[in-house]
Amino acid sequence: MDSQDIWFPVVLRLDDSARVVVVGGGTIATNKTGLLLATKAQVTVISPALCPELQRALMGGRVTHIAAVASRDILAAHLPGCRLVYAATDDRNANRQVAEIAREMNIPVCAVDDPAPSSFITPAIVRRGPVMVAISTSGAAPVLARRIRERIETLLPAGVGRLARFMQAAREKMAQHHPSPDTRRRVWENFLDGKGAEQALAGDEIAATTTLEGLATGENGSGEVWLVGAGPGDPDLLTLKALRLMQNADSVLYDHLLPADILDRVRRDAERIFVGKQKSDHALPQPGINDELIRRAKAGERVLRLKGGDPFIFGRGGEEIEALMEAGVPFRVVPGISAANGCAASAGIPLTHRDCAQSCLFLTGHARADGTLDLPWHTIAQRGQTVVIYMGLGGISCLCERLIEHGLPPSWPAALIEKGTQPDQRVITADLESLPRLAVEQGFRSPALIIVGEVVRHRVVSV
Ligand code: SAH
Repeated sequence: MDSQDIWFPVVLRLDDSARVVVVGGGTIATNKTGLLLATKAQVTVISPALCPELQRALMGGRVTHIAAVASRDILAAHLPGCRLVYAATDDRNANRQVAEIAREMNIPVCAVDDPAPSSFITPAIVRRGPVMVAISTSGAAPVLARRIRERIETLLPAGVGRLARFMQAAREKMAQHHPSPDTRRRVWENFLDGKGAEQALAGDEIAATTTLEGLATGENGSGEVWLVGAGPGDPDLLTLKALRLMQNADSVLYDHLLPADILDRVRRDAERIFVGKQKSDHALPQPGINDELIRRAKAGERVLRLKGGDPFIFGRGGEEIEALMEAGVPFRVVPGISAANGCAASAGIPLTHRDCAQSCLFLTGHARADGTLDLPWHTIAQRGQTVVIYMGLGGISCLCERLIEHGLPPSWPAALIEKGTQPDQRVITADLESLPRLAVEQGFRSPALIIVGEVVRHRVVSV
């Protein structure tokens, strides 16, 4: 194996004047040809026969086929003037012979999966428009390089190519207005750290341009509010977008449903403001929360309003947004996995089922101040559907009684899930008659979700 310090990464120009030779006609050659066709290069494939996929590539017009074995004579005829050669047959010896001839001719050559005779190797690539990340293990462990690539794939937002193109388009204008490279660098850094990057990533070029101009002229624009769903508690169920915004926020307003595991993923320097919302402990009542969001955004902050589950499902996200709109504060909403989806998956209970549940209702079981529940009982107490009740633990006895009174049998299946998706999740599967008693006996506490319906009988517990 070659030592690791003989390899040097560069980004090579392959425009339409560049010709690249690929030796081979099977899968390996097809893969390399595919990579090359993502550039503007002309590709010459040398092989007696071609697999059907490579034959299709010929139709595109940028691939020339030399139907011959890659003998010394054939290579001498086709290699001069080409920029790169891939020895990409499935025969290691044949590849080595091609590599030797190419090296004699001083043409950079890669024998696929065989660094020793190669003068260059191809990295694993992550590509988003003009942004490229190339990962190489210097030929030591290609499988590891591919794993690292998968990780980077999930880290790089889809819009980063758009962001790069936006910055490229604005560069010249910036250079005219700000001759000092230092100033330009600072403006760009502030742009990337601030809301401008999010705007460009989302494809809102007009807003991004306004933000950039504000930064360039020193006028501090307003901040914005990100209303983000954090899912039901398992940090692995955060969306990529939620995670990105969590790492870019100046401040975060969160309520009691959020486990520490999730808050730990918010940028360390962000200011944390607990706004409560447990029944008894309203650290900040709703109007106070709205005012706080508005005040901070107007002061230029990127404010993260982090909510359990999905912000638009029993999350009062709608009310917060109305207040932001009235105040003219820009905002963005990011959905999250709601408790119903998270708990159903982690408890192994499907929410719909071809045989027994053609629809699914999400309800709030939050009792009124006088302790009564005002729900459309006739609609809820139906067969053929699943009923998911949020905030129903306090009123669970009343809930189950009403459902029986309105026609469901006492033996109708029902489940209770406490701290769904979290390491200390607990599940009871029972029926309407016994569930309230079991919940008390086993000391179930909030957050807990009730699922009512025959789907509970279809519960599967993975081994
Ligand atoms: N916006 C949230 C719901 C907020 S209401 C969402 O989409 O999930 C709060 C209620 O959600 C709790 O009382 C409980 O019924 C339910 N809940 C939230 N997270 C939960 C969890 N991890 N396990 C069980 N129930 C949960």
